[in-house]
Amino acid sequence: MILIDHDECIFCGGCSSVCPASAIELRGTRVATYPEKCIDCGLCVKACPANVIEMFKGIKRVEDLPEEVRKKYNV
Ligand code: SF4
Ligand code: SF4
Repeated sequence: MILIDHDECIFCGGCSSVCPASAIELRGTRVATYPEKCIDCGLCVKACPANVIEMFKGIKRVEDLPEEVRKKYNV
């Protein structure tokens, strides 16, 4: 799965346009992600001009993220 620093996101749509799994979309004023669809390809991380996407390979649920990561991203 990926997490996004929404405070620093410039809402450019670069991530959603490269995602091969439709796991990211621009919704309203925020980028929505669908961890269950993510295939951990890393394309969005590379495509983000603001460098605000972090990938956590093999993790599908926020509950399985390390505590410090959950705190950092407020999830
Ligand atoms: S890592 Fe790949 S599949 Fe997952 S959200 Fe990013 S582009 Fe989509
Ligand atoms: S590519 Fe980065 S800056 Fe652009 S919408 Fe996606 S997360 Fe935000």
